Amino acid sequence: MRTIIEPFRIKTVEPIGMSTLPEREEALRRVHWNLFLLRATEITIDLLTDSGTGAMSSRQWAALMEGDESYAGARSWERFEAAVKDIYGFRHVIPTHQGRAAERILAQTMIRPGQVVISNTHFDTTRANVEAAGATAIDIPIPEARQPRVEHPFKGNMDTDALEALIAEHGREKIALVLLTITNNSGGGQPVSLANVRKVSEICRSHGIPFYLDACRFAENAWFIKTREEGQQDRAPIDIAREVFSYADGCTMSAKKDAIVNIGGFLCTNDDDLARRMRDLLILTEGFPTYGGLAGRDLEAIAVGLYEGLEEDYLRYRIASTKYVADRLHEAGVPVLRPPGGHAVFIDAAAMLPHVPPLQFPGQAVACELYRVGGIRACEIGSVMFASRDPETGEERPAPLELVRLAIPRRVYTQSHMDYVIEAAAEVLANREKLRGMKITYQAPFLRHFTARFEPL
Ligand SMILES: *Cc1c(COP(=O)(O)O)cnc(C)c1O
Repeated sequence: MRTIIEPFRIKTVEPIGMSTLPEREEALRRVHWNLFLLRATEITIDLLTDSGTGAMSSRQWAALMEGDESYAGARSWERFEAAVKDIYGFRHVIPTHQGRAAERILAQTMIRPGQVVISNTHFDTTRANVEAAGATAIDIPIPEARQPRVEHPFKGNMDTDALEALIAEHGREKIALVLLTITNNSGGGQPVSLANVRKVSEICRSHGIPFYLDACRFAENAWFIKTREEGQQDRAPIDIAREVFSYADGCTMSAKKDAIVNIGGFLCTNDDDLARRMRDLLILTEGFPTYGGLAGRDLEAIAVGLYEGLEEDYLRYRIASTKYVADRLHEAGVPVLRPPGGHAVFIDAAAMLPHVPPLQFPGQAVACELYRVGGIRACEIGSVMFASRDPETGEERPAPLELVRLAIPRRVYTQSHMDYVIEAAAEVLANREKLRGMKITYQAPFLRHFTARFEPL
């Protein structure tokens, strides 16, 4: 088989930060080993997130010039709405400045305090918005999702037996909605099968429970369905996406993911009365319903990007390039989560540094070493981010997994950049016996990973 190449060529270039080892060691000391506090110019390859970091195409840049900045009823709004309706098929489309604004409006219009929301896995902003509305967020992924090295084609699936049990336990009235995240970001970017979407939808419909999708990576999910689910191989990703959306009552979307833009999002619903209440809330904080906090040019770029994100050549390259990194790391002996997801590769830092206990933050140690040796910024997803406290004793309890996420921006880095990342990770592996854990010297009461200070032990 031939190499799967980037299906684009480069028209504009942006220099990246090249640095020396002593400069990076100095930078780590200055930011107290917290990679969020680095200046972007100090980073060579930035794999902190795939959100809003994609490269727009020449067609998207051309569309920006078509932006109609009329306050109400702009032409750009019409193009945006037509594109979303064509692909998603929902009756109402409500633009927002990014995904979490859509989540906030959904939560505040659909949830009453004391209710529960059920998901395969809530993304962290989704969970925060559910909890801010006074509800409890419950995650029921299939059991395989919690086993890092077990292979399964659709590890993002929801456990439908657990769903029926929860409905029996709580009763329909207590369940505000069921929200399926495709792909399951917090579960490692793992896909959800068409069969699972259909089954969850059937269960919700039979009980009259609203069923929504967190659709940020709907195109990557469609590609996994096409390539992994029986009988789907001959279908276009756009047709699979349309079928997925046909089973839901609405969705939230961060356009910073599969619409390949730097900012934007939206909310969809088929419920007329709910849409009216959502628009009232939108006007209060986001903007008039035909722009929702976005410029007309942003709406244009989303309208183009939604279709580009569904192109087969793009998706084949996108998923192959993520798999390439995961497979090469695996071959080099770096423990990675299996199978690779759509948008990111996860290094299992607990397996890489077995001598560092979870509460000495092996993920943070690996992430800092990746920066030290290669100027690469990754993100710790382990006990720095998700440790909890025992409500009785106040004792800190580690997160279930100690991971380092290498999130891959869309259309930004080439294969040689990724080869460089693989080499740097192999160097971290070679140094592993010398690596020590970390201690926290300062932390904020909430979301400590953004501002915490560390010191190597
Ligand atoms: C990014 C993301 C969000 C939130 O979107 P923002 O645009 O960052 O506000 C919600 N859900 C999932 C699954 C995401 O990946």
